[in-house]
Amino acid sequence: MKLSEIYKNNKQPVISFEVFPPKGEGAEYEAKVTNLFKELEILKKFNPSLISVTYGAGGSSREKTYDLVLDIKNKLNVEPMAHFTCVNFDKSQVLEYVKKIEDSGIKNVLALRGDPPQGTENFVPPQNGFAHANELVKFIKENTDLSIAVAGYPEKHPEAVDFQTDLLNLNRKVSEGADVIFTQLFFDNNDFKDYYQKVRDLGITIPVIPGIMIIQSISQIERIINLSGSKIPESFKNKLYDYQNNPDDIKKIGIDYAIKQVEDLLDFGVKGLHFYPLNKSYAVSEVLNSINIR
Ligand code: FAD
Repeated sequence: MKLSEIYKNNKQPVISFEVFPPKGEGAEYEAKVTNLFKELEILKKFNPSLISVTYGAGGSSREKTYDLVLDIKNKLNVEPMAHFTCVNFDKSQVLEYVKKIEDSGIKNVLALRGDPPQGTENFVPPQNGFAHANELVKFIKENTDLSIAVAGYPEKHPEAVDFQTDLLNLNRKVSEGADVIFTQLFFDNNDFKDYYQKVRDLGITIPVIPGIMIIQSISQIERIINLSGSKIPESFKNKLYDYQNNPDDIKKIGIDYAIKQVEDLLDFGVKGLHFYPLNKSYAVSEVLNSINIR
């Protein structure tokens, strides 16, 4: 089913999960994939309408993303969404890849610009490729019948000169034909609510789906700040550090925080919840078992 249909007239909030191709090659990779599907079988109990698969930085996981997306569709029997970036591909390569996705029966893509390679600050578009996600959205829309999602940033994209400019750039992606906005993870719901209002004030009417990550370790906190730039409220961060020597307490504090966060978002009226489970089922299961949306 296409994104546009998944989020249309749904009575319950749409549950979706985002997974990534595991690291490694050969037998090691296959074992990790087997494990990933065991975790996804557990998460399937929560009736996800969508499972998305990330696209490695620099396009490194291109074929793995494609294979996982197909397995999610054909073996797990859940609708998948393939992430895709502008990195390292010219227009003809983009065309070939998105046609391949569409010809395999995949209906949904998350169209992204991608990050600059590690160690560099500026994104350099490939020759005869795309510089911004809105150009990719336009190209996919013109050349396929895929349903397209785009990324949104409740705390502003780190490179954007200011919030308003970032919102106008979001609007370009929507004008080119995006069906849904999935947000970067965040921990302060006020950031999401303010963002949501600003998006609606611009006249954007498509669903804005919050990205939820559940903190399960202290090392995850540092990674989150480095990778996404999302801030963690001081009181929550202090509580986690107070229990840093007890991993079980950290897990419980992270889950309790996410339950409250999700309940508040549901009260706010979000049309869906997009979880970042980090390829594990435990924390998301605990959260979804605690809220009454099944
Ligand atoms: P854009 O929308 O192009 O925005 C990038 C920057 O350029 C912003 O500052 C924006 O304000 C500005 N901008 C946009 N359009 C224009 C324009 N026309 N003119 C001038 N400035 C413009 N990365 C991966 O590599 N693989 C993944 O699988 C992946 N999945 C993600 C999933 C989600 C839900 C999110 C939120 C992010 C994901 N990312 C992924 C990260 C993403 O690639 C980076 O955040 C990247 O830096 C920006 O991508 P974008 O599509 O938002 O870019």
